[in-house]
Amino acid sequence: MDMARIIDGKALAAGIREKVARRVALLKAEHGVTPGLAVMQVGDDPASRVYTRNKAKQTVEAEMASFKFDLAAETTQKDLLRKISELNEDSRVNGILVQLPLPDRIEEHAVINAIDPAKDVDGFHTINTGLLATGQDALVPCTPLGCLMMLRDALGDLGGQKALVLGRSNIVGKPMAMLLIKENCTVTVAHSRTRDLAAEVRQADVLVAAAGRPRMVKGDWIKPGATVIDVGINRVPIGEDEKTRLVGDVDFDEAVTVAGAITPVPGGVGPMTIACLLHNTVAACCRQSGIDLPED
Ligand code: NDP
Repeated sequence: MDMARIIDGKALAAGIREKVARRVALLKAEHGVTPGLAVMQVGDDPASRVYTRNKAKQTVEAEMASFKFDLAAETTQKDLLRKISELNEDSRVNGILVQLPLPDRIEEHAVINAIDPAKDVDGFHTINTGLLATGQDALVPCTPLGCLMMLRDALGDLGGQKALVLGRSNIVGKPMAMLLIKENCTVTVAHSRTRDLAAEVRQADVLVAAAGRPRMVKGDWIKPGATVIDVGINRVPIGEDEKTRLVGDVDFDEAVTVAGAITPVPGGVGPMTIACLLHNTVAACCRQSGIDLPED
């Protein structure tokens, strides 16, 4: 039985981080500019805490300026908007990220759209989603950008591939579909109301699974030789005790015997997301400073 090639997200992400660090060094040496990223969290959701800590840590490791704000759970929308407005004006800050989800009483769109679109390194601002949807230069959401980099690494040119995106969230599914259209794929977007999902998946040369449902995509749904990008991060119990492990939205053990290439969970899309955030921050810094993004 042929086994799929494993797409190594850890290694690819390390490569992106190295490139980011080289660009940061160049920007400092040749232009006297240090890219800066501000990461904000409201409340103390433990998963968000881990994500924001990792983002700040990797920003520092890339020798960029890191600004971290842990705001109390009671922070009002008005206070949050005031803080964002301060950061919009702060020239040391090139990228602003507000960790989602926000507490229910804070309106997510109002907060995201208060960020200066030029500093919106998560790419969620309506201006950036509009630019992406119309095929213009945009700051692109980090997770789909990471998926695209992995697909390019696995396949090279994506033109003409039939792609299925499972999930239509604003964070992953929709921007992923936009990116794949831009890459000249023929794109289908599936969601919870899709009829006969298995039949849709079977047609796809490229599958990006972002449904948040542990191992829902079975091996026999996958077209032999297809490239599978598994975005899902689901914690499932193992055995009787409290122990858990992370699994994707794809049944990896089944899929690996059918696919041509596949990302593992963990070690696939996950590490790419923060690497792309650092990349976006450097790109935003260059644009704000009127500097061409340095090539290798
Ligand atoms: P959302 O919950 O916002 O969206 C899930 C999407 O999947 C929705 O469009 C939903 O359809 C669809 N869906 C859910 N169940 C089914 C089903 N049974 N059949 C078909 N479609 C279904 O999730 P996100 O997009 O934010 O995240 C998706 C997954 O990716 C999660 O596991 C998340 O943890 C992970 N993730 C990983 C990241 C990383 O860095 N690796 C970053 C971001 C997310 P409908 O719209 O109809 O409800």
